[in-house]
Amino acid sequence: MTTLAVVGAQWGDEGKGKVVDVLAAEADLVARFAGGNNAGHTLVVDGKKIVTHLVPSGCTYPGTRCLLGAGMVIDPEVFAEEIAEIRKHGLLQQDELRVSLDAHVIFPFHRELDGLREDASGAQTIGTTRRGIGPAYEAKVGRRGIRVRDLLRPDRLCDRLERNKQALEPEFARLGRDRVIDVDALAEQAAGWAQWLAPMVCDAGAEVLEFIRAGKSVLFEGAQGALLDVDHGTYPYVTSSSTIAGGACTGLGIGPTMINGVWGITKAYTTRVGAGPFPTKLEGEAGERIRAMGGEYGATTGRPRDCGWLDLPALRLAARRNGLTGLVVTKLDVLARLSTVEICTRYQDDIDPGRDGFDDAVAVYESIPGWGDPTWGERVSKARSLDDLPGPVRAYLDLIAESIEVPITMVSVGADREQTIYLTPAF
Ligand code: GDP
Repeated sequence: MTTLAVVGAQWGDEGKGKVVDVLAAEADLVARFAGGNNAGHTLVVDGKKIVTHLVPSGCTYPGTRCLLGAGMVIDPEVFAEEIAEIRKHGLLQQDELRVSLDAHVIFPFHRELDGLREDASGAQTIGTTRRGIGPAYEAKVGRRGIRVRDLLRPDRLCDRLERNKQALEPEFARLGRDRVIDVDALAEQAAGWAQWLAPMVCDAGAEVLEFIRAGKSVLFEGAQGALLDVDHGTYPYVTSSSTIAGGACTGLGIGPTMINGVWGITKAYTTRVGAGPFPTKLEGEAGERIRAMGGEYGATTGRPRDCGWLDLPALRLAARRNGLTGLVVTKLDVLARLSTVEICTRYQDDIDPGRDGFDDAVAVYESIPGWGDPTWGERVSKARSLDDLPGPVRAYLDLIAESIEVPITMVSVGADREQTIYLTPAF
């Protein structure tokens, strides 16, 4: 059995898209298990950029099947546009895409509610992407969610829409909007979605098991990052789904024994979008430099990301919550242009983020002296093996691996597939 879960080990945007894209070269199935179009992956294939929000990153390989799991929330309008965009590149044939019957559906009223709530919350905002993700997950837990399978049953669909209307209209009225949920109009729109979705629906768990039983390689693709997990992240500044490796089980309908390994992805530094604690955040010019060098603007919203040094206590927590068997370090090339690199090795007063939370965490740094070699940046971005990396970079990687007690299995030194150093086979 050859399966691997790949998850973000920080607050998202770790470069999962690129890493899963690289690993998917050897995968027969790439199954995404959580989130919606609040995630955004930027894939670079032959110099061309493809941005995906819902479709797993395996979509760039002809013959690799892509599966959207039950743990996801799917906006059919966004999904249709994304499929059309990917197909313009000659990728993603009909047989290569499957959607779980149990995935939840984002309706226009979820998006509207998300935006109205963010507008009304002022300074208290969570900083959601306003794509309706939160309201759709809320409906799921509130037992009035509408699943892909409901779209295929118009009688059931109208009943569900009616329940949502009753549940949400008072809030819409409070927020200054009337008659947002028109059941008949929405049912008609949904009938259109059902038509093109029907050929790709499946039982996601059965689909995964079929691949595993046939001895095929399966990648489980997470969204966002461990520290945004609804149960284990920096609550309440979290996303609405299970982003940790355990989410692969609940989000696809398979058992934990089906996961052979878990790789966590971290940037060589840290970024965060939206509100919530961020102990190593850099204010002012220092943060702006990393942002500019790393192109740290959201793939989904274009929002500038807060930037800071690598946070080892946070990474250790992510390693524990995911049971990491390997660590992938991305964007090492971004730091190559800096003369000094700092790394947070612990928090003051022995604060343990798992036990004490992050609110009072004050980062303590180790300063790694400037490398002072003008060819350093160039050498890192062209590195093909660890031997190509200058000594101080290797020392930086060793410090990370030792500190979190997880071996580094892959290093990324640029956005291209070729700018990847493989240390351990994925399958
Ligand atoms: P994701 O949601 O985790 O995939 O994160 P993003 O899509 O925001 O990915 C980060 C961005 O960094 C994308 O534009 C990638 O092409 C790019 N990227 C990924 N790995 C590297 C790397 O090692 N170096 C550089 N310079 N860019 C990278």
